[in-house]
Amino acid sequence: MTMRKMIVAGNWKMNTSLEEGVGLANEVVKLIKEKGAGRSEVILAPPFTHLSSVVHAASSSVVKVAAQNCAATDKGAYTGEISAGMVRSAGASHVIIGHSERRTLFKEDDILLKKKVQQVLLEGLTPIFCCGEMLEEREYNRHFQVVASQLENAVFGLDAEDFEKIVIAYEPVWAIGTGRTASPEQAQEMHAYIRKLIAGRFGESTSKSASILYGGSCKASNAAEIFAQPDVDGGLIGGASLNASEFVQIVHSF
Ligand code: PEP
Repeated sequence: MTMRKMIVAGNWKMNTSLEEGVGLANEVVKLIKEKGAGRSEVILAPPFTHLSSVVHAASSSVVKVAAQNCAATDKGAYTGEISAGMVRSAGASHVIIGHSERRTLFKEDDILLKKKVQQVLLEGLTPIFCCGEMLEEREYNRHFQVVASQLENAVFGLDAEDFEKIVIAYEPVWAIGTGRTASPEQAQEMHAYIRKLIAGRFGESTSKSASILYGGSCKASNAAEIFAQPDVDGGLIGGASLNASEFVQIVHSF
């Protein structure tokens, strides 16, 4: 059984110029060198245009780099798309797949996300697969069902060996960028449920070693109580990852 990893990943979304992004990465790298990464793996997910520069900025440290998305195919006439192979060749190690903004704004569905996960795995990179319910789905008490079907449709068809390479991020859509965080109990309840689903599909050992991150208005002031939950293995951080000292404080919240 592999050890469950604690992970804090910063999703910069469509923010920062190249110069600002390299500056932010340099600040994070400097702080991590000074203070260490504690128990956590640290990942930065800048925009595509910044990937190789951020990889360069992070190369002398333990900080890893992720893309925020990739194409569902490997190459060809797909103007404007970026393949997982291109992401790998830029030096990144992870790719965020199925972020709720991709699902809602760009209409990415489970079938497409399944193909993207496969592309990422084929390139030997780690998918950070996002799932999570919308507000009205929670209000109608459908949140467990929604998350189960997202996982079943996109990643539960993988074999165990591939599934074990994936990081899961539970991000309730109503908590993303809204300042409204899930309570530690709500996060724990869903994370435990996801772990139970993984155990049912892949067995106890795979479920115990799976890293399940929480995302949604996680910041320095609330990270510790969320990360203290037994089934929460870190966070996917949006807004608060744009400030190096706050982000590194979150890294040290275990
Ligand atoms: C995210 O983009 O994955 C996210 C969780 O955003 P925020 O922290 O800003 O809610």
